[in-house]
Amino acid sequence: MTALVHGHRHPAIVEAVSRALEDGLSFGLPTAAEVDLAGHLSERIGAVDSVRFANSGTEAVMSALRIARAFTGRPMILRCAGAYHGTYDPILPEGAPGVAPSTWSTVVTIPFDDVEALRAAVAAHAGELGAVIVDLMPNRPGLVPASREFAAAAREETERHGILLIVDEVITFRLGVGGLHQEYGVRPDLVTLGKTIGGGLPVGAVGGREDVMAMTDPRRRGYVEHGGTFTANPLTMRAGLAALELLDAGEIARINRLGDALREELGALGERVNGRGSLMRIMSPEPDDLWWRLYRSGILIGRNGLAGMSTPMDESTVEEIVRRFRKAVA
Ligand code: PMP
Repeated sequence: MTALVHGHRHPAIVEAVSRALEDGLSFGLPTAAEVDLAGHLSERIGAVDSVRFANSGTEAVMSALRIARAFTGRPMILRCAGAYHGTYDPILPEGAPGVAPSTWSTVVTIPFDDVEALRAAVAAHAGELGAVIVDLMPNRPGLVPASREFAAAAREETERHGILLIVDEVITFRLGVGGLHQEYGVRPDLVTLGKTIGGGLPVGAVGGREDVMAMTDPRRRGYVEHGGTFTANPLTMRAGLAALELLDAGEIARINRLGDALREELGALGERVNGRGSLMRIMSPEPDDLWWRLYRSGILIGRNGLAGMSTPMDESTVEEIVRRFRKAVA
């Protein structure tokens, strides 16, 4: 699921969690661990002035959308077809079982990476849209990065109409020091995070503009509820900080190069492989068959072909994968 960017039991992360265990499993008050990870994230991500933690990406997206609606006073959200943002009602596919049908009157869906559709939808609903949420490289539609034009248009259109731009970096954060949006030169109002920032333990986070995040301040009248018994638990916070400290610019660039090299090698074998940097998706016409063949050869990928490079890997890992892959599909 791409959460373990340092492998299954990196010693520095295991040690950070073990030390945190000694201090106590769970607290009602904020802990230093939470403040440290929040500080680290806001240093890394220019658009993040302050941050609130959750236990999953789903919760982070739910809070981000609610904060955006409350801040703008507008009920509607715009999202891209097929992009997965977790399981909060309005970002499920339209008509999803169990969701109140009235929900869909608050959701506008456009094709991913379609600049004209974006501009038209924003123009049609400008006064009602509170948020545009985008994943700049959504996995489900095929893990193809958005065009620079689409990212720029999303920022331009939202800014023009006072709509908040939420970039969902739950998967993509690992691709750049401050996430994928920084590579596009786009500054969102809110960013949602998960996976990598928890070092392998359950996590989510929403961060962004100070004035927007202030909507969650419980001292404020009419604040947006955000919380949970286990949010910002110290084990996750310490694991996450250890993981992010290990994931510096050099390591990010190195595993991104490994991903590029593997994509190229598999491409030369005739496979269609999408993605960018350390994240890829093998677009097999027979994904189940490929999964079993690779599994039997000692290569574990996601059921839909999603795969990620991690920092314990090096060039020899790429060679080994290619060697086994060639045999597995022969
Ligand atoms: N957003 C994106 C882009 C995701 O890929 C995911 C999970 N795959 C989520 C949100 C939901 O995160 P979680 O599984 O932690 O709820």
